[in-house]
Amino acid sequence: MPVERVASDTDSIRRQNRRLVLDVLRHLGPLARTTLATETGLSHATITAIAADLTNQGILVDLDTPQNGQKTRGRPAVRLGHKRNVAFSLLFEIDVNRARCSLIDYGGTIVDRIETELGPDSFKTVRSAAFLAAMAARMRSRNPEESTRIANASASVQGILNRAGTGLTWSPIAGFAGQNLSDAILAETGVTLALYKRGRLLAEGTRLLFPELQDVNVATVFVGATIAMGMSFHGNSFVRSEDTATEFGHMVHIPNGALCRCGTRGCIEAYAADYGILRTAYGVPDTTPPAPAVPHHQYVELMESARRGDRNAAHAFNLAGSAIGFGINRLMTVFDPSHIVIVGPGAEALPLMRGEIEKAISASLVGRLHGVPQILTHSDESEPIFRGLKTRALTEIDQNLFAPMPSQVQRTETL
Ligand SMILES: [Zn+2]
Repeated sequence: MPVERVASDTDSIRRQNRRLVLDVLRHLGPLARTTLATETGLSHATITAIAADLTNQGILVDLDTPQNGQKTRGRPAVRLGHKRNVAFSLLFEIDVNRARCSLIDYGGTIVDRIETELGPDSFKTVRSAAFLAAMAARMRSRNPEESTRIANASASVQGILNRAGTGLTWSPIAGFAGQNLSDAILAETGVTLALYKRGRLLAEGTRLLFPELQDVNVATVFVGATIAMGMSFHGNSFVRSEDTATEFGHMVHIPNGALCRCGTRGCIEAYAADYGILRTAYGVPDTTPPAPAVPHHQYVELMESARRGDRNAAHAFNLAGSAIGFGINRLMTVFDPSHIVIVGPGAEALPLMRGEIEKAISASLVGRLHGVPQILTHSDESEPIFRGLKTRALTEIDQNLFAPMPSQVQRTETL
């Protein structure tokens, strides 16, 4: 029937416009209505209506309202921002040596944070699902008020996700895989847990960190205790993100080569991760099982030795550079990154690896034709990971919870 058709079309346009407004505010922060109209391409009238809707619903709020008695010439540009306490998000970052749980508000500010060190024995006595549930329970008891408004939970994890996305089938974190993490968090908090591969968040977060990378193809490579890579493609917004994580570290570099922590021989990681470099530098056979963990100071010492001209240490970094370079060389046959960002402890070691990385990339047809991608570094990997995770979680609330909400303004009008 025509009448219903019109109503449903209007409704879908309204949802789409709300989605657009929330997306722009998520990425650019608080904005005046005029700027919001320019950034979204929507008319001023539409922006006024959507803004009224979203503020009435307590999702957005007018910031910088003039103080009482303050005289303003003309109308000041009041910025529209997030109503911080309307919803909260629970974020987990699980790494080989650390577990972190953060509670953030809808504006993205950290409300509380719990951090625990992890070691090779951490999940021998406690199951990973119970461990995460206990962290969530502690967070809830510390923040009872905010906990009633937790809208979602997300985790950054290392390893291979199961098909249902409820846990991991394999993880470099000993004893972490094989559990249903989503159900454990659902039982504890009432919200489901979304799992994201660390490499993917790294790629997304790095793009947010370097504005010049917004519209280019980027390969973000984590170099440290493991080797991970995320790819992000030209000009994607978060809503339709095509960023992907790869198993780059476990791409075979040399068949039957050095023993990797995953049990396979010859992976890139077996040469380029800290344990691979340690093994080569000390002349230990490359089939020797990898060290469970390499302390950061030891990695720093290896870099210092290589810089001082120690041939074994320098050779170890050369092999690492070559493994990473040939990995990128192979990757460039299917994906053409114009930029590579090296993040993590390995960022500092780039000068020791760069020569071999560039040599290996130049040895490919695409590398010869297009040249070596521009290589950037960022030492602190936790910053882009947290940023990627936070933006994912809040975007999920924007797009799936708040954008589709029925309009209150319309409801009062029809009453
Ligand atoms: Zn491997």
